[in-house]
Amino acid sequence: MQQSDRKKQWQRIQQQLSYTFRTSRFYQRVFQEHCVQVDCITSYEDFSKLPITTKEQLQQYNEDFISIPQEQIIDHVTTSGTLGEPVSYYLNEYDLERLAENESRSFKLAGITRQDKVLITTTLDRRFMAGMAYFLGLRKLGAGAIRTGGGLPGLQWESIFRFKPEYIIAVPSFLLKLIQYAEENQIDYQNSSIRSAICIGEPLRTSNFELNSLGQKISSLWDIELFSTYASTEMATAFTECYKHKGNHVPEDLIFTEVLDQDGNHVAAGEIGELIVTPLNVQSMPLIRFATGDMLTYTDTACECGRKGRRLGPVIGRKQQKIKLKGTSLYPQHIIEILNRFNGLQNFIIEVSLDKNGVDRLKILIPESFREIESLKEHLKAFLNVLPEIRLEDSKTLQYLKFPANSRKPKIFYDLR
Ligand SMILES: [Zn+2]
Repeated sequence: MQQSDRKKQWQRIQQQLSYTFRTSRFYQRVFQEHCVQVDCITSYEDFSKLPITTKEQLQQYNEDFISIPQEQIIDHVTTSGTLGEPVSYYLNEYDLERLAENESRSFKLAGITRQDKVLITTTLDRRFMAGMAYFLGLRKLGAGAIRTGGGLPGLQWESIFRFKPEYIIAVPSFLLKLIQYAEENQIDYQNSSIRSAICIGEPLRTSNFELNSLGQKISSLWDIELFSTYASTEMATAFTECYKHKGNHVPEDLIFTEVLDQDGNHVAAGEIGELIVTPLNVQSMPLIRFATGDMLTYTDTACECGRKGRRLGPVIGRKQQKIKLKGTSLYPQHIIEILNRFNGLQNFIIEVSLDKNGVDRLKILIPESFREIESLKEHLKAFLNVLPEIRLEDSKTLQYLKFPANSRKPKIFYDLR
C-alpha cells in the first residue's frame, strides 16, 4: 500500500475506533478492562495490541454491541450459525447504504454493468443479509435483478429463458443441481443467456487460485465464467475476485484485515492464518478485531488487473475444524478437494469425531450405490496418507445431511468432536 493510502486507511481505523468507543457498551467495558486509551492508539502496532473479539463474545453480549438507538435499526438479520446458534445482527440506513456500495463495487469487479441482468438464486429472506445486499448492490449499480431465491430449479430455468439474464448469483453446488435438472429435462442450458456466475458459500479455487475440483466440475459441464466471492454477516463486507481470478480483492476503505497465527502474530503472505477483521464505516454493530474463524492466505502484491491492495485466498476451513491425522494438520477443504477429485463420487459427507483415546477419527459417508470402493480407498490412502473409515448410506440420508432444513449452505462437513 502507498504511504498516502496507508495514512487514509489509518484515519478511517481511528475514526471507527473512536466511534465504537463512544457508542458500544461492549467495547467501553473491554477497553476499560484492558486499560485501552483510544486516543493513544496512534499506529498499526498499537492497534495490533487491542484484544481480539470472539464469536462467543458476540453471542454472549449480543445486545451490548448495538451502537445506535433501537428505533434506527431497519434490517434485523442473523449470522449463518455455521458453528453454534445464529447471532443477531442489525443494520441502519447508513449500514444498508454501505452494503449497497460494497456490493455494487463487487459486481463491477466481476464486470457487471447497468446493461446487465442478474438472477439472484440466494435467499432474500430468512433473516439472511447476503440476498438483500445483492439486491441493493444491483439497484445501486443500476443493473437488473431477478429475485428467484433459493431452490426451484424449474423456476430458475424458466426465469433464465424468460428474462435472459447474463449473470447468475449462486452457491456452486446449486449450479451443479441446475445443470443436472437441465439435463434431465432436456433444457438447452449450453445456449442460455448466462455468461457468468457469481459464486458464494463454497470455495471455487485452490490456494494457487486454480479452479478446485468443484469449480472444474462446473466448468467442464457448463461453459460460463466463475467468479468467487467471500462474505459473512459479521464482516458486513463481500470480497470478490476480478476477471483475472487471482484472489478476492479487499475493499480496504470498508474493512481492515489481519491474518494471524494461533499466537496472535501476523503471518507472512502465502501462509495460512485466521482472518481477523475490523469493518470500517459501520454504525449499528461495530466490531474491532473480530476473529472470523476462517483460515486462509493473503497476498499484498498488485493484481494483474492493475488494482493494488490486499487479496485473500479461498477459505480452507474454520479454525476449530482443524483435523490432526497422524501428525498432519488438515482442514475440511483439503479433504473435500481430495474427494471431489475422485471421478464418479457425486455425493459424500465428511464426519470427524474423537476415538476413545481422544484422537481425531475421520469417517467418509458415501452412497450405498457407489461401486468403486477399493479404488476410492487407494485414492484416499495416496492423498491423505491415512485411510479413513468409509460408511455406506442411502442417498436420501446423504441428501438430507447435505442440505439440512434450516441451513443456507450445503453442509458437507460434520464435526462431532
Ligand atoms: Zn484483480
